[in-house]
Amino acid sequence: MMDEDSLHTFEISPMRHRRSTATTMEARVLELIASGQATTRTELARELAAPASTVSLAVGQLVDRGLVAEYGTQASTGGRPRKTLRLGGVDEFAIAADLGGRHARIGAVLPGGAVADVSTVAFDISSGPERALAALADALTAVADARGTGTLRGVGVALPGPVNVEEGKVDRPSRMPGWNGFPVASWLEERFGVTAAVDNDANCMALAELTVQPSDRRQFIMVKAGSAIGAGIVVDGHLYRGATGAAGDITHVRIDAAGDAPCSCGNTGCLETLASGAALVGTLQSQGLALESSEDVARLVSEGDPRATQAVRRAGKYLGEVLSANVNFFNPDAVYLGGILSTLDPFVAAVRSQLYEGCHPLVTEHLTIARASLGADAGMIGAGVSALGFALTRALQSANSSASNAVRDHAGIR
Ligand SMILES: [Zn+2]
Repeated sequence: MMDEDSLHTFEISPMRHRRSTATTMEARVLELIASGQATTRTELARELAAPASTVSLAVGQLVDRGLVAEYGTQASTGGRPRKTLRLGGVDEFAIAADLGGRHARIGAVLPGGAVADVSTVAFDISSGPERALAALADALTAVADARGTGTLRGVGVALPGPVNVEEGKVDRPSRMPGWNGFPVASWLEERFGVTAAVDNDANCMALAELTVQPSDRRQFIMVKAGSAIGAGIVVDGHLYRGATGAAGDITHVRIDAAGDAPCSCGNTGCLETLASGAALVGTLQSQGLALESSEDVARLVSEGDPRATQAVRRAGKYLGEVLSANVNFFNPDAVYLGGILSTLDPFVAAVRSQLYEGCHPLVTEHLTIARASLGADAGMIGAGVSALGFALTRALQSANSSASNAVRDHAGIR
């Protein structure tokens, strides 16, 4: 249950002055539907601790304005069938992409987080933003055309580096030459003529996980263990970004075992130099193995290569060490592991055992440690859900409603 005080706690500071107006029942209803925490009037009433009649009135007004749609029935529990609520119109969708170094996962994302037309396309991040985004946009256009651009509402992109979400720009990335400060969101809006949302990939994965977890699973850490290591933090059902948007950036936490190994950030001894996919590639290359990417590491492990398996197990242990301190501090319900390394059993087992070893029993007693629910689609889904939330915010603004802030802040975007 979210009250006004908790909203204040987790907002990002430039929006602070606006928060005081964002307390209408419609705003709170929209936020709960947007995050997947409530899909029926009954669930809304419970989450809001509000009378059913008040909730129904707010829902009715949102339906009348075309901001919420009612679908079929939900009768899986055997009780009386109920209508399910979702944001936006029935046919609306966003196009979305999760960008890696060499590939991008793309597709259409529907309200509530369902996906369609998903594929993996080549994407060369090292060619710089103009060229890379132009090629990506062609692929996304094909996805949009297949569904009909009349109901395209947004475009969302998950980026493998720090993002200034408010400005829609990449902010001092380590492995994205030419991207620093590039206005990705503006570029996408100009190209597609719809609202754009861009965010760090781990944050997008956390937003996606929120759409599938039950409403009592509201404190968690989503770790992306890929070429680099990132984390998205969800507090009370909201993405927590920190004071400057860098919350969860555990890849540059220093650990003793890394000694003075140079890191891509310019510092030395970071977790990234031991536990990232990029580090594993370097380690295994130095042992004479022929490989180029984190995907190659995963392939070697799945083929049972003992050196790759050993290296991945060690990486999991180091990640678990750093996570232990954070889990002890934060006391989450769950730690979800995503990214290519998380597809490997030895990696997940090592993280898990290190967490149990390094955390107080009070913290691990009810801690879930599991793979992310949405697999390789998670970043794309989170980006798409963000874009739809952002588009809805604009629709609300044009409807001259004070309810816009909650949905926007849910996505952490303005
Ligand atoms: Zn570093």
